[in-house]
Amino acid sequence: MVKDFLVFLDAGHGALDAAGNYVTAPSKQYKHSKGAFHKDGWFYEGVFNRTLTNVVARKLRDLSIPYYMVSHEWADISLNYRVDVANWYAKKVKNTLYVSNHANAGGGSARGFEIYTSPGNTTSDKVAELHWNNVKEVVGDRISRYRDDTTDGDHDKEARFFVLTRTSMPAILVEHLFFDNYEDALLLMDDEIVERFAEAQVRTIIEAQGLL
Ligand SMILES: [Zn+2]
Repeated sequence: MVKDFLVFLDAGHGALDAAGNYVTAPSKQYKHSKGAFHKDGWFYEGVFNRTLTNVVARKLRDLSIPYYMVSHEWADISLNYRVDVANWYAKKVKNTLYVSNHANAGGGSARGFEIYTSPGNTTSDKVAELHWNNVKEVVGDRISRYRDDTTDGDHDKEARFFVLTRTSMPAILVEHLFFDNYEDALLLMDDEIVERFAEAQVRTIIEAQGLL
């Protein structure tokens, strides 16, 4: 049993069940008029979230950095359960961190990368700032836009998302581009972009240990 550090990985929403049905709310998918994407033009956010999170997990495993996946392989497990699991293990481990992976939808014209933390100035903001810088460094101008809110002195946006406010440990929620924008969706299907987003996240997880 890990004692010093554990990162909880949360791939947002659900994905495809054994029969190939997308088991997530309709708002978490988009049918592009051209391109193949996950199936016949459909982009499934939950599938992307797992593709990325699985690369992060593989890298952490290679580095012997302890992680625990609180999302299911495909089922859309309740947020309550994901947070309960993390909070239970957090009582047994000295330092913990929660990272939730998503892609955004904004009506088609919105593009870019965002990080969210809970309102107020906490350790989560410091972790988010590390991640902002790592994504800038590793992904750079391969993506079109970094969407930030610097009115409170850092780059993250703040929202009362369940996994950010109900977790007992520092938590960030990352919105990897907009899957209902065609150009952003193409980037999200690009293995090198996924690899770079995952590498940035691993570096953040390593560096965040110094803040917890
Ligand atoms: Zn999402």
